[in-house]
Amino acid sequence: MSKLSLDRILQSQGFGSRKYCRELIEDGEVSIQGEVVDNYKLTLETEGLQFTIFEEEWTYREHVYIALNKPSNFECSRKPSHHPGVLTLLPEQFSWRDVQPVGRLDHDTTGMLLMSDDGPFIHAQSSPKRHVPKVYLATTAEPVTEALVNTLLSGVQLHDEPAPLAAQMCRQVAEFQIEIILEQGKYHQVKRMLAAAGNHCAALQRTAIGKLTLASLELEEGEWCYLTQEQLDLLV
Ligand code: URA
Repeated sequence: MSKLSLDRILQSQGFGSRKYCRELIEDGEVSIQGEVVDNYKLTLETEGLQFTIFEEEWTYREHVYIALNKPSNFECSRKPSHHPGVLTLLPEQFSWRDVQPVGRLDHDTTGMLLMSDDGPFIHAQSSPKRHVPKVYLATTAEPVTEALVNTLLSGVQLHDEPAPLAAQMCRQVAEFQIEIILEQGKYHQVKRMLAAAGNHCAALQRTAIGKLTLASLELEEGEWCYLTQEQLDLLV
């Protein structure tokens, strides 16, 4: 339980500087339970707090945990250079809150991308020690063979890795498609493993992280949702 003044609450939720949030409140942009609240000093319990701002309903969240169905041609880097950044797909408040991608997908990889403003969560999820399985659907340039699947399962040597990297699971799902599960998150790992195994990755989608599947989120490409505690618990 914690109490904060209304201007601090709006600032913490990413609506802008403290000064700007005070102006919004004094201009009558904020209401609670249908009543305009124009006193920015009003102290409120934050847990479960709901308010309306710019005629939109918001619920106070100490941190946000988001899943985005990333489309192609968006970059995960903080300073995107060739394509728009993934943050442009989220409401502006999330940039103010310093929401960041948890790990990275290549600009042309689609699928599940987690995002949050909770530093320890981002750190824990991205830690190489965690071995959270990530599931990918890779479309190949050449037909999939049994030998390809077996090579990916037994391990391939990438030039900058000390030891061969193996898929935790790999199976053919179509003539030109495999499902592959990786425990590591090395740079361009699926693409480089496919190339090292003698094929080429033509398209890549991340379909699950841990036991949380993209399909269960029912998001169109470019759509996002908040994750519930139960969904977060599936990211084991
Ligand atoms: N492996 C890749 O090659 N690219 C990604 O975006 C993710 C995993």
